[in-house]
Amino acid sequence: MIEIEAIKKEAECLREEIVAWRRHIHQYPELGFETKETEAFVSGLLREWGLEVRTGVAGHGVVALLKGGKEGRTIAIRADMDALPVKEETGLPFASEIEGCMHACAHDAHTAMALGAAKVLSKHKEEIEGNVKFIFQPAEETVGGAKPMIDDGALENPKVDEIIGLHTGCLWPSQKVGEVYVSYGPMMASADIIKVKIKGMGGHGALPHQAVDPVLIAAYAIVALQSLVSREISPTVPAVITIGTIEGGTAPNIISGDVSFSGSVRALSQEQREFLEKRIYEVLQGVVSGMRGELEYRYIYGYPPLVNDEKITADLADVAKNVVGSEHVKTIPEPVMGAEDMAYFLNYTRGTYFFLSGCNLRKGQIYPHHNSKFDIDEDVLSVGTAILSSFALRGQIKTKI
Ligand SMILES: [Zn+2]
Ligand SMILES: [Zn+2]
Repeated sequence: MIEIEAIKKEAECLREEIVAWRRHIHQYPELGFETKETEAFVSGLLREWGLEVRTGVAGHGVVALLKGGKEGRTIAIRADMDALPVKEETGLPFASEIEGCMHACAHDAHTAMALGAAKVLSKHKEEIEGNVKFIFQPAEETVGGAKPMIDDGALENPKVDEIIGLHTGCLWPSQKVGEVYVSYGPMMASADIIKVKIKGMGGHGALPHQAVDPVLIAAYAIVALQSLVSREISPTVPAVITIGTIEGGTAPNIISGDVSFSGSVRALSQEQREFLEKRIYEVLQGVVSGMRGELEYRYIYGYPPLVNDEKITADLADVAKNVVGSEHVKTIPEPVMGAEDMAYFLNYTRGTYFFLSGCNLRKGQIYPHHNSKFDIDEDVLSVGTAILSSFALRGQIKTKI
């Protein structure tokens, strides 16, 4: 049986290498589905360690298989590889070489930690019961690379039984570096979009009775939408409707012909999501038709809610306690209403997603994700590798706690 202490030590020994991978990826960030260089970098290392590597999955995604020497389940470790259209202002010696593009969401760190796990586990190939699959996905920050990768067979051959992934960075101010936050059940929200167009009838600002004013209708409609979360959803269940854009009209004295607005709708369950989709339409239709306007409405499904498997999360918490100590493994205080592409993988197979706090205030890592000065404490890289590796081996690993 493999000792968890040995895995911890092996991850720690790789510290410098993992840091170097992270810095390389950080220096050459790529956007969305265009992760060609990262794909080449990641797949080159994985091949070196003897994994069966498939590149070009959903564009530039990578799926690598580590076949264990014995029969067993297939556990997947997922990392995201894409960066953001942000101009880096960290002043780091390994800052982005690509103008206007930056790893400001720690996906460079996620990729490096998963690579670390691949290297650690590849040395235990013969002892491993089952397989470990590594999934490196593009486009987490945009339209989502997970679903196209699933459609391209990422979870098949062999079929993935369980999947794990993580996010690091400055998650909330009270977190201390190196702490692990798990969540039993719904952890992150769905992120859907509504697009609304209200058609009235344009006219003279002095003669409103001869026109149908879509600006006034839009004002009533937006206020009415806000009553859905406050009046129709239980106060103990989180949901968000944010109208982020509104446009219409050309001059102060002209009644516009139409007004368009768009918004973000977030929920923690499929049921809430479908409820909101239906009720937003009904409220809009009621207000708009009652005020003589015409409605065009589109509800566009984005990432689903991210829901963790409770049993697997409990297993992850046990593994993490052995790596970082019981006192540093916590349950997240409340779900996060941001969305995460990992949710698709968790929709198709059981698994869990967790946070590894990666900001050290004393090292000046105080900036939130997506900020041009965002940075992480590289000390967490080998910790992440140790947790991911130990999780993949659980059931065949000797723990202390
Ligand atoms: Zn992000
Ligand atoms: Zn992210």
